[in-house]
Amino acid sequence: MKGLTDVYALGDMASTPDENGTPLPVLAQVAAQQGYYLGRALADNLKDGKAMPPFKFHNRGNTAIIGRHAAVFDFGWMQLKGRLAWLMWAIIHVYLLVGFDNRLRVSLQWLWAYITYERGARLIMRDFES
Ligand SMILES: Cc1cc2nc3c(=O)[nH]c(=O)nc-3n(C[C@H](O)[C@H](O)[C@H](O)COP(=O)(O)OP(=O)(O)OC[C@H]3O[C@@H](n4cnc5c(N)ncnc54)[C@H](O)[C@@H]3O)c2cc1C
Repeated sequence: MKGLTDVYALGDMASTPDENGTPLPVLAQVAAQQGYYLGRALADNLKDGKAMPPFKFHNRGNTAIIGRHAAVFDFGWMQLKGRLAWLMWAIIHVYLLVGFDNRLRVSLQWLWAYITYERGARLIMRDFES
């Protein structure tokens, strides 16, 4: 972070410009790539004293869920929407979670929410309470 050494901000709390100066979107893909980048860059810096290279974002496609059985995918060269996009959204998000425990927990929560038509907000509140 500007003005602070050894303090880094990434993901939703950081505003990172792309090569044209436009801020990158506050999406999971950006946060995940920044996490990998920072981990690797810090490890290399500590091990070999390598200067940290600038972060480069690689757009692998954006996705958002917009309802039950409805999601959108934008790969740049192809767009996808509807049930298939919704299913892919769920599979990809579970796959990207860290660790088997988290994948299982989120899959079961989503399955329960799907079966019972439970609203997402209530699931989030339950996480806070436990
Ligand atoms: C409703 C909603 C839908 C979204 N849908 C999509 C989508 O379809 N596709 C997409 O790409 N992105 C989506 N996003 C955006 C995506 O979730 C974020 O861009 C991504 O999670 C950012 O990751 P992050 O690590 O920066 O922050 P987070 O994932 O928010 O992680 C921050 C973590 O820090 C923890 N934390 C906060 N304060 C403290 C503290 N003081 N001490 C310790 N821990 C703390 C929080 O509990 C949290 O676990 C959505 C976001 C929302 C809110």
